[in-house]
Amino acid sequence: MQNLRIPGPTPCPDEVLKEMSRQMINHRGPEFARILSEVTDKLKQLFQTRNDLFLLTASGTGGLEAAVVNTLSPGDVVLAISTGVFGERFAAIAQSFGVRVIPLRFEWGQAADVSAIRQALKAEPKIKAVLVTHNETSTGVTNDLGAISRVVKEFDKLLLVDAISSLGSIELPVDDWHCDVTISGSQKGWMVPPGLAMVAVSQQAWQANEEAKMPRFYWDFAKAKSYLEKGQTPWTPTISVVFALSMALDMMLSEGLASIIARHARIAQMTRDGIKALGLSLFAREGHASNTVTSVAASNGLDTKKLVKILREEHQIVLGGGQQSLDGKIFRIGHLGWVNEDDIAAVMAALKVALPQAGFRSG
Ligand SMILES: *Cc1c(COP(=O)(O)O)cnc(C)c1O
Repeated sequence: MQNLRIPGPTPCPDEVLKEMSRQMINHRGPEFARILSEVTDKLKQLFQTRNDLFLLTASGTGGLEAAVVNTLSPGDVVLAISTGVFGERFAAIAQSFGVRVIPLRFEWGQAADVSAIRQALKAEPKIKAVLVTHNETSTGVTNDLGAISRVVKEFDKLLLVDAISSLGSIELPVDDWHCDVTISGSQKGWMVPPGLAMVAVSQQAWQANEEAKMPRFYWDFAKAKSYLEKGQTPWTPTISVVFALSMALDMMLSEGLASIIARHARIAQMTRDGIKALGLSLFAREGHASNTVTSVAASNGLDTKKLVKILREEHQIVLGGGQQSLDGKIFRIGHLGWVNEDDIAAVMAALKVALPQAGFRSG
């Protein structure tokens, strides 16, 4: 079997995959209503929220668009914190809907600096919302969302959080950290195929929703809420992925959120230690390295594209490359969702063989 070590889609356990082959049911019938209500409750436990939570049939990006169109109006001003590809994407979505985006960019590989965020909020009182990526998958950096949230709430702004590659894997108490719209996606830490975005919506987000004039139809939270009260989604959902998610959530709750978070921390540490032991250097700044994806810098003659190809063709291990300006400059190892020590040990053993073949000179 292939060892799929990219930061999403992630491997799915057999029990989860089996659910994908179940016969279709009426999405407006009592059986689906029961499953939808159970899945929503289980997700709320893992999001650590008592607020509303909706399933959208979309990849994660659909959830990001939903956050923008349900809380903002054209001409609103937002501060878009960007530490990589996904921070840029969130900003681009807002921009394309007529929001005035003030970008606050940090060097790729670094985390967002909280004092710079405070300064930016001070400088422009018109800012209505702050957009932030909790875990920047493109660089392998986790931003200090707890501290960012404290500053954002000091200024009483709306906080829209891309938690697509962190929720369910890295600590993120959505209510305690006052996140207003929090988005995740099924193919990341949830051990489920792509197809569902999950969004949690706070009271403050609902207040913003009442005034928000952005055009919306498919992603309308108000419609999602009124249908959920009847045990339905407004539009036909990806029923098979909902079946799969239900099974995966049972597995996650039986492992327990604290254990899952500890497992991700342990495996990430093992990955970073292994990378250093091979003489390679980590790309993410020390202390901010992600527990779901490790980024490794090209150094000492290493051709990362050649390395990724050798691992794929000769070791059945699939790693991620660098995106956009990081193309050819880093490679990435995904370790989120269904992952254990053996999966990473296999990567390290293969790297040991493949690194010299890909031009790497150690020492
Ligand atoms: C994967 C990912 C996304 C969204 O990607 P989709 O392909 O739309 O699911 C957005 N943000 C982050 C941080 C991600 O890791």
